[in-house]
Amino acid sequence: TIWNLGSINADMVYALPHLPTAGETLAASNLERFLGGKGANMSVAAARAGSRVAHIGGIGPDGRWALDRMTEYGVDTRFIAEVDMPTGHAIIAVDKQGENQIILYPGANHAIEQDQLGQALSQAVPGDLLVMQNETNAQVEAARMGCDLGLTVCYAAAPFQADAVQAVLPYLDFLILNEVEAEQLRESTGQSVAELPVKHVLVTLGSKGARYLPKDGEALEISAHKVKAVDTTGAGDTFTGYVLAGMDRGLPMPQAIAQANRAAALMVTRHGTADVIPDLKEVLEARFG
Ligand code: ADP
Repeated sequence: TIWNLGSINADMVYALPHLPTAGETLAASNLERFLGGKGANMSVAAARAGSRVAHIGGIGPDGRWALDRMTEYGVDTRFIAEVDMPTGHAIIAVDKQGENQIILYPGANHAIEQDQLGQALSQAVPGDLLVMQNETNAQVEAARMGCDLGLTVCYAAAPFQADAVQAVLPYLDFLILNEVEAEQLRESTGQSVAELPVKHVLVTLGSKGARYLPKDGEALEISAHKVKAVDTTGAGDTFTGYVLAGMDRGLPMPQAIAQANRAAALMVTRHGTADVIPDLKEVLEARFG
């Protein structure tokens, strides 16, 4: 099982003639609502890849639809608490050229209780995976608990914050980050990511693929697939969800990464996030040029 302490967001996309300027009131011509948040995206990706995924998180009374949708996509939502706060959301303004402006409100994503976490993880068994990203509270408590329980503790260092990564670093078995985040971490720790005391480090390289840096072993680069990219949002989260699912199913790391590369390549050819993440069958059957 994969235990994901993760964010759940409503992505509210407003179509506008231009991006609003200070003091301006602007009517949107269209509004679409999508399921988002790095946490929810990763849970959906891992579930679509065939893993058992239990999500630990928070929503407000306005977020029941998000919970229903995650359930529909195969995620166990029993450990998502409803609190008296707005659901986390992103207000995304998009102009005619496709330029955007985003307001992010964490809301219920920052209201996760220690008890809730303890209750969820009391059902975990050694060898299960625990994953976190930097969009919820309680990351350090979870990492510590996961470590004590013998879980494989994984962290996606996004959105990047040096303090947040450094606080969980001592507990990690697996760290995943993109090239920019890897460079930011190097600047803040003075160590290259290859020198960190973490068993598995995985750096994603966008259209170049990914670099795997095992603590005991040779570094390995795995190329991405050549596709026509139309929308890269959610590619990183899909990649992470698929790698975790591969690890959870006992695949050797290079094979888990290869499947994640395929899933993420499909994602960049699609508009949208959680709602369009491919399942394992699509990923295995996809033909790339
Ligand atoms: P993030 O979106 O988190 O910044 P990356 O940009 O490194 O992460 O992308 C994550 C993964 O998505 C890559 O490792 C790769 O597998 C896939 N990917 C991203 N962009 C492309 C692309 N243009 N073509 C093919 N695959 C891509």
